[in-house]
Amino acid sequence: MKPIELSFEFFPPKMAEGVEKLRASRKELAKLSPKFVSVTFGAGGSTQQGTLDTVLEMASEGFEAAPHLSCIGSSKDNLRAILSQYREHGIRHIVALRGDLPSGMGEVGELRYASELVAFIRQEHDDWFDIEVAAYPEFHPQSKSPRADLENFARKVKAGANSAITQYFYNADAYFTFLGEARKLGVDVPVTPGIMPITNFSQLMRFSDMCGAEVPKWVVRRLESFGDDRESIRGFGLDVVTDLCRRLIEGGAPGLHFYTLNGTQASKAICERLGVKSA
Ligand code: FAD
Repeated sequence: MKPIELSFEFFPPKMAEGVEKLRASRKELAKLSPKFVSVTFGAGGSTQQGTLDTVLEMASEGFEAAPHLSCIGSSKDNLRAILSQYREHGIRHIVALRGDLPSGMGEVGELRYASELVAFIRQEHDDWFDIEVAAYPEFHPQSKSPRADLENFARKVKAGANSAITQYFYNADAYFTFLGEARKLGVDVPVTPGIMPITNFSQLMRFSDMCGAEVPKWVVRRLESFGDDRESIRGFGLDVVTDLCRRLIEGGAPGLHFYTLNGTQASKAICERLGVKSA
C-alpha cells in the first residue's frame, strides 16, 4: 500500500502553557512525517498574530506550515497585509475560508464568500500560494440546497483553489457521493477528508451541532451508554474513526487531514492502526 499523505490542523494557543503543549504535540506528530500542518484563524482577525506566530514557528522547525485565512469581517487592505506578511516569510500554502462571524460582530467585510477570497489571492499573488478550500460532504448548514453548495465548491476551485479539505463526517458514503457529484461539475482537484477523532462525547455533539456534521445514531447511542467512562469512549471512538479512515483510503481518498485540537494521542493512535510508520 502506498504511504498515506497526512496533515494535522492546530489552533493558535492563547496561553503560554498552550504554546508548550502545542510544541510537544507537533514534535510527537512530526514522527508521522506529515505533508503539512495548518493553523486556524479566528474570523475577523481575532487570532491574526497568534496564527502568524504559530505558523512561523512551525515553519522554522521544518514543517510545511499553512495558515488558514478567513475573509469575513476583514477589509481587503487587512487581507492584503496578512498575505504580504506570509509571502515575505516564504509561506506558500494557505487555507482560504469565509469563516463565521462571532455573534455580535457586525461587519461582514469586503469579501463575502471564500470564492471571492480565492480570486483575491490569485489576483494579488498569482501562483505564489498553493490554496486549499473547504468542502462539505454533508453540505454547509447555510447553503440553499445541496446543489447550490456543490456549485459553490466548484466556484472556489474555478477561482483558483488547488485542493480541498472537507468538514469532518462519519459516513464514508457522504464523501464518495459528494466527490462523484463534484467531479461531474468539473472539479478535478484532490479533496482530502477532514478527520475528527472521537475522544469526548459532549464536545463532539457541540461541535457537530455548530458545523452541521452528522454523528450517526448508532455512534451516539453507544457513546451515551459509556457515561463518564472516558476509556471506553476513547476505545470505541478509535475503532469507529480508524474504520472510517480505512474505508476512505481504500476508496481512493488522497490523504487524511486530522483536526487535532492540539492533542496528539487520538490522531497518532489512528495513524498507527492504519499502519503509518513513525520516523
Ligand atoms: P464559503 O465557501 O464562502 O461558503 C459559505 C456558505 O455560503 C455556504 O453555505 C455556501 O453554499 C454559500 N455561498 C457561497 N457562495 C455563495 C454565493 N455566491 N451566493 C450564495 N451563497 C453562497 N473557520 C474559521 O473561522 N477559521 C478557520 O481557521 C477555519 N478552518 C476551517 C478548515 C476547514 C478544513 C473547514 C472545513 C472549515 C474551517 N472553518 C474555519 C469553518 C468555515 O469558516 C465555516 O464552515 C464557514 O461557515 C464557511 O466557510 P467556507 O470557506 O466554506 O465558506
